[in-house]
Amino acid sequence: MPDLLFDKADLPRRAPVKRMRVVDAGHLPGGSKGIRFKCRHCGHDTGWIDDEWMITENRRRLPCPSCNDKNTTELSSESTT
Ligand SMILES: [Zn+2]
Repeated sequence: MPDLLFDKADLPRRAPVKRMRVVDAGHLPGGSKGIRFKCRHCGHDTGWIDDEWMITENRRRLPCPSCNDKNTTELSSESTT
C-alpha cells in the first residue's frame, strides 16, 4: 500500500535546513582569515569569504542560501555587517 516514507509529525519543528560544509579554510591574500563553503545538495559555492564566524559556527555549517528559503536561514541575523 502506498504510504508516506516518513511521518511528518516525526520531523523537527523547523523545516530541515540544508547546510553547506567547509571545503577549504586558510588565509586570504590580504592576510585575513578566509573560509570557503560548498553545498553538497545544489553545488552552491561561496568562494572565499571572510572567516567572520566562530569555529563552532563553522562546524555547525552554514545554511545554503540556494537550498533554503531566505526566511528560514539562520544566517540572516548574522550577515548584516
Ligand atoms: Zn544548496
